Amino acid sequence: MASTTAEHIHCLIIGSGPAGYTAAIYAARAGLKPVMYQGLQPGGQLTITNDVENFPGYPDGVMGPEMMEDLKKQAERFGTDIRYGIATAVDFEAHPRRITIDEKLELTADTVIIATGASAKWLGLPSEQRLNGSGVSACAVCDGFFYRGKEVAIVGAGDTAAEEATYLANLCSKVYMIVRKGEMKASKIMQKRVLDNPKIEVLWNTVTDEILGEHAVEAVRVKNVVEGTTREIPIHGFFVAIGHEPNSKIFQPYLHHDEQGYLKTLPGTSKTNIDGVFACGDVQDFTYRQAVTAAGTGCMAALDAERYLAALGD
Ligand SMILES: Cc1cc2nc3c(=O)[nH]c(=O)nc-3n(C[C@H](O)[C@H](O)[C@H](O)COP(=O)(O)OP(=O)(O)OC[C@H]3O[C@@H](n4cnc5c(N)ncnc54)[C@H](O)[C@@H]3O)c2cc1C
Repeated sequence: MASTTAEHIHCLIIGSGPAGYTAAIYAARAGLKPVMYQGLQPGGQLTITNDVENFPGYPDGVMGPEMMEDLKKQAERFGTDIRYGIATAVDFEAHPRRITIDEKLELTADTVIIATGASAKWLGLPSEQRLNGSGVSACAVCDGFFYRGKEVAIVGAGDTAAEEATYLANLCSKVYMIVRKGEMKASKIMQKRVLDNPKIEVLWNTVTDEILGEHAVEAVRVKNVVEGTTREIPIHGFFVAIGHEPNSKIFQPYLHHDEQGYLKTLPGTSKTNIDGVFACGDVQDFTYRQAVTAAGTGCMAALDAERYLAALGD
């Protein structure tokens, strides 16, 4: 039920990754007085990585957390109201749209920009967590370059894993692909690309026992589950490609999404199926998942929100 005490917001941005901050910069400069809730991970996924070398404008590269601090300052400079808090529920059938923060604070909003990103799935090994950013990565396109000419391993058996293994094989001297079963889930064409590539060795029926190394990845210990044997393979990079989970659960009852939970937008726009609700960044992007594409769609979301409000006469 609508509470009379709910704070009303013109443009609410949920999430503080590259998509959310870019939306904030554009929305603030357009006079929409955006309010942003940062969520559990202020700054988003890039705060857990070291070097970012592929975001335009940083010729010498930049540390992920530093880049996100720059984006935050830029959003604040134009007056974005940046707050701590997690969106825990929404009612997108209500007019204006209703959003609950931290299960207690009720808000209403004329426009909502969803920029909640996606979380990589991990194997759950303590060594994987300890060496994350020091040789362990969930993004071959982002971090493969650091291992050019070196030996790496990748875990996964789907299309993304196959694609990333092929990508890594272009850069690295050797790629071990660790596949739990005796077959892959990847499409036939992707499998063929992997199997035909002389630089990729598929380790069938194999699981990761432990990633080894004190301060950086030095090797992986794998176990063949059929033979019951283990072996250590020297590597420099360990890539996890077992999927991502878009942070879209609370929106799914209202918004069209695919079977994995990625929000669907009208092609070429950030518009969802609900008026005044826009989605940008990794939460709606299964394909590219890069900071620059997230920022690009964040810009689209702010412009779409601005045009939506203008059409309403606001
Ligand atoms: C280890 C690693 C290294 C990477 N390196 C690179 C790289 O070098 N170059 C590159 O281009 N890309 C890189 N990426 C990918 C890049 O980080 C993502 O594509 C990008 O961050 C996506 O931006 P986003 O704004 O959509 O979401 P995210 O960065 O995922 O941010 C999501 C935001 O939403 C917030 N949020 C989630 N749920 C809620 C909620 N319910 N309420 C409020 N807030 C919420 C989170 O707190 C977070 O602030 C890397 C990713 C990883 C994991």
